[in-house]
Parts: sequence; structure tokens; C-alpha cells
Amino acid sequence: MIPPIYSPAPDRYSNGMKYRRCGRSGILLPEISLGLWHNFGAVDPLKRSFEIAHYALDHGITHFDLANNYGPPYGSAEETFGQIMKKSFQPYRHELFISTKAGYDMWPGPYGNWGSRKYLMNSLEQSLQRMNLDYVDLFYIHRYDPETPWEETLQTLVDIVRQGKALYVGISRWPHEATAFGYQYLRERDVPCLIYQGCYNLIRREPEEEGILNQAKEHGVGFISFSPLAQGLLTDRYLNGIPEDSRIAHGGHLKKEALTETTLQRIRALNEIAQQRGQTLAEMALAWILKDDFVTSVIVGASSVEQLAKNLKAIGSPAFTAEELETIERIIKN
Ligand code: NDP
Repeated sequence: MIPPIYSPAPDRYSNGMKYRRCGRSGILLPEISLGLWHNFGAVDPLKRSFEIAHYALDHGITHFDLANNYGPPYGSAEETFGQIMKKSFQPYRHELFISTKAGYDMWPGPYGNWGSRKYLMNSLEQSLQRMNLDYVDLFYIHRYDPETPWEETLQTLVDIVRQGKALYVGISRWPHEATAFGYQYLRERDVPCLIYQGCYNLIRREPEEEGILNQAKEHGVGFISFSPLAQGLLTDRYLNGIPEDSRIAHGGHLKKEALTETTLQRIRALNEIAQQRGQTLAEMALAWILKDDFVTSVIVGASSVEQLAKNLKAIGSPAFTAEELETIERIIKN
């Protein structure tokens, strides 16, 4: 049974969450945000989705990250969130920072994918309906489209803000050169890019290697890391095999093949360092990303309230010693 009335914990802003300024903007985001890519689809238990969302807000997680195609099926995570809005969060809309995205295949035909004005405008309209919202706080172009002119996609972001359908815009998964163009184009039109969303964690370093992190910092744009736990690899989930209820066992985006012997060895070695630091591997993995202050937030996923509760313990982790950081680099790079 879904509880009929939800009222958030009165101490939600004083029970541990910390907030960071997002680039050079007025927005503060929680160090840990909640992503609805998995665990909020029509295939997932609705009661659990409500519980995870309630727990999040009760602990100061104000930022919920969605996309048109989250589910499965596509659109259903936004529908679940729409139910949560209707039944629980509506009176607290002004306390929430809700993002959605478009860029991946969403509906059949030539207008349901990539970066055209037609697709992005129509998709956001649908997202707002599914989520029972008048506007989103943040709208992202979800991925780079090598064929649509950059100006078309970027001008659509500008116009979406002008129409009042999004308060801010962001860029996800764009390469360095296009991103530089994007930051300038948006700034010149007084709709500066708020944030860049990229995959960055202990084992995935592309935003660092490709200069995306420095670029965001230099332009006063925030950076938010998706899949900060490498979809669960950077936790104790797979230390002793593949549990039946895990993401790998469900056979989705995280494949069995990702769990190579080298990766397992690295995870075990990282787990030992975490233990020496007196924390879990998940806590250490999140703390490692958050050690740099140009990272605004990490977007975690959680298939239970317990996982989210454990992840929140990363906030206020002890600082890394130079020796710990060196050991971590050795483990990852050997
Ligand atoms: P994570 O790396 O945080 O992985 C989450 C998964 O790890 C959980 O569903 C759970 O998997 C497992 N897990 C989480 N916490 C624990 C714990 N304490 N102990 C053990 N296992 C744990 O993030 P996601 O890959 O889910 O991505 C997070 C968000 O990032 C998405 O929801 C989305 O909002 C965003 N994203 C954006 C993308 C983009 O293109 N811009 C792409 C991908 C994600 P299990 O099911 O095994 O329990």
C-alpha cells in the first residue's frame, strides 16, 4: 500500500546532507542526487519506488535526475515520478530540482531520436505530461548528434528556457570541441549552461582524460557524475559472485562481461583500502569523486532504501591521504 499522505522529515535539511554551488550559478545541489534510470520503471515495484524517493527527500536529496527513455519501458520512470509528484511531492515542488533529458531513441519514425528541434520540443512536452509538471528545473541534451547542426540543438535549449519549460539547461556526453562551442553559444544568449553530465568514477576517467572536467571549471559550469558506482561494480555487490537480484543478473546495460578477472581484482584491492579507511567501497567510491570541489554532485542509483542509506554515509568522509590516492591510482592503472 502506498501511504496516502507523505510529509517530508522536518529535519531534512539538517540531518547530514551538504550542498555545493553548481559552477558560477545561483543553484546549490546536494552532494548526492538520485537517478531514476533503473528501479523506477513500470517493471519495478511501485511501493519501493515511492519509498526510495521519500527517503531521498527526507535526507535532503533535492535533485532527481530523469530522462525520457528511463524505464523500462521508455517513459515509465517519468510516469512513476509523475505519480510520486501527484501523491507525495506536489506541495514541495519548489524544494525540488528535477531534470530530464532527450537525445536517445524514444519513438519510431524520423523525429523520435537525436538532436533536432522537432524531437527535443516534442519530447519535453511529453516528459512534462508524464511527470505531472509545468516545467523542469533542468533540461539536458542527452547525447551528441554528429549530424544535426550544433546551433539547432543549442538554440532549442535556449528557446525551451524562454518558453518557461525549463529553468536551466545542461549538456550530457558531448565531446570537448562541441561542448566548448555550446558553452559559448548558450552564454551569448544569456542562457548559460548550468551543468555537464558525464560518466566519471574510480574506474571510468574519460571526463578527466578528455579535459571535460577542466573545461567545465574554466567556464563556470558545474559537473555531475553519472553511474558513480560504475552501476554497482564499485560496491560490495559482486565481491562474492553475481547475486540473483543484481543489475548484472537482470541482464540490462551492465553485462556479465564487465566483471573481468582484472576488474574483480581491482574491486577487491579497492575494497581493502576502503576497509582500512573504515568505510565501505561504495562510500569510498563516492567520496573519491566528491574530493574535488569542481564536482557538484554524484547521481547514484539505488534498488533499495538500504542502498541509498548506505551511500549517504559517503558525505563527510575523511579526506584521502596522498598515500591512499597513490595506491588507488596504482590499483586502477596496473
Ligand atoms: P550507480 O553507479 O550509482 O549504480 C547504481 C546501482 O548500483 C544500483 O541500482 C544498485 O544495483 C547498485 N548499488 C547502489 N548502491 C549500492 C550499495 N550501497 N551497495 C551495493 N550495491 C549498490 O548509478 P546508475 O548507473 O544507476 O546511474 C545513476 C544515474 O545516473 C541514473 O539513474 C541516471 O539518472 C544517470 N545516468 C545518466 C546517463 C547519461 O547518459 N547522462 C547514463 C547513465 C546514468 P543493483 O540493481 O545491483 O542493486
